[in-house]
Amino acid sequence: MSGFKFASPDAALTAMAASLIPVSSERREVSVGAVIAEDIVADRDSPAANVSAMDGYAIHQALLQHDRVRVVAECAAGSSPPPYDGSGAIRIFTGAVVPDGCDTVVMREHTSETSDEQGDSITWLDAARANAAGANIRRQGENLAKGSVALRKGQRVDGPVAASLANFGITHVALHRRLSVAIVTTGGELIAPGTPTGQLRPWQIRNSNAAALAALLASHPAVENITSLTAADNLDELGKCIGGALSVHDAVLVTGGVSMGDYDLVPECLRKLGCTQVFHKLPIRPGKPLLGAIYEASEFSRLVFGLPGNPVSATACTRRFAFPLLDRIAGLEAWRPMPTLVSVQASDSKTLPLWWMRPVHMTEPGVAEIVAGRGSGDLASLAHSDGFIEVAPNDDPTSPSNFYRWAY
Ligand code: AMP
Ligand code: MG
Repeated sequence: MSGFKFASPDAALTAMAASLIPVSSERREVSVGAVIAEDIVADRDSPAANVSAMDGYAIHQALLQHDRVRVVAECAAGSSPPPYDGSGAIRIFTGAVVPDGCDTVVMREHTSETSDEQGDSITWLDAARANAAGANIRRQGENLAKGSVALRKGQRVDGPVAASLANFGITHVALHRRLSVAIVTTGGELIAPGTPTGQLRPWQIRNSNAAALAALLASHPAVENITSLTAADNLDELGKCIGGALSVHDAVLVTGGVSMGDYDLVPECLRKLGCTQVFHKLPIRPGKPLLGAIYEASEFSRLVFGLPGNPVSATACTRRFAFPLLDRIAGLEAWRPMPTLVSVQASDSKTLPLWWMRPVHMTEPGVAEIVAGRGSGDLASLAHSDGFIEVAPNDDPTSPSNFYRWAY
């Protein structure tokens, strides 16, 4: 795309990600949402022994030729398997170790059970005779062999990862620390949301970006601490505020003051503070003036965004650009966005020669409806959206589009 350093949002993200170093890690108790910083090796086979996949009868294959078979023992999960001499069937339960000498488990539903004074016996239903050797047995190590890598560093602890860690005996592990993010809202017109209506002058507006970004960030699993700061449109105040934020926070998200107006001092301020600008302006709507930068010190790198002040731009660009890169500095290997595809209902036929982020409301699984709005300042209609779709330049807006939900 001519006139822009990067032709797409993803190209810009890739360039930023290349310069970002993940935050430090330390060994601590497993914590949901944290990202593991070391490979995990299986301490034993999974399963640890040959176990039954069913409630049923463990036998040697040869017994399938007999009409009636005695039940000679029982084998439950959590006990050592009984000895087996091949002369009968062992009643076995799901997860129990299959006794040596048994090569088949027949599910209980494929047998007919009878009892007399000498004990229990079974006869086979037709389906039982179809069981080949090995049927209904989970082989020792068939999921994973002892010594193999069970989890790769860079995975986030979610339900399945927590299960794997628990299974392989890991209660403490190297985890990347969680992130601290500063929101810096700029503009002399901003006033605290709690200011009563009667005290507002016509040129004052309530600071909605600080609230929007804090709420978005609260859904990000890598974010632990959110600090909200405000600064007026002068270089001195901006420099102190952003400079202070860069010294303690992993990411600094500035809103406002990033376009071409006389009061748009954020690009100059970031330059003076020593930030390396990766891009300023992208072929997107809303949010064209977006600025991405990195603040590098010897032992760390900070993620910096100059977001346009318009509420729809600030919100969409935070979700689209800041969120994946927060994952990147949090150590997540799969930090790249994974939007879901949706089809767009009752869309207008407008196209743009830009990547167009359009607020949508989900109406059915996989189906979104465009939320009509009056541009990047329209936070009133934005509140009725579930997220946005991103339509590629000149693309037909009714073709399936990538959907980004507000909440992560
Ligand atoms: P700017 O990018 O600073 O030129 O701001 C663009 C528009 O967004 C202006 O109309 C601002 O008043 C508005 N705006 C900037 N910051 C905020 C904020 N924190 N909350 C709500 N609106 C804002
Ligand atoms: Mg401003």
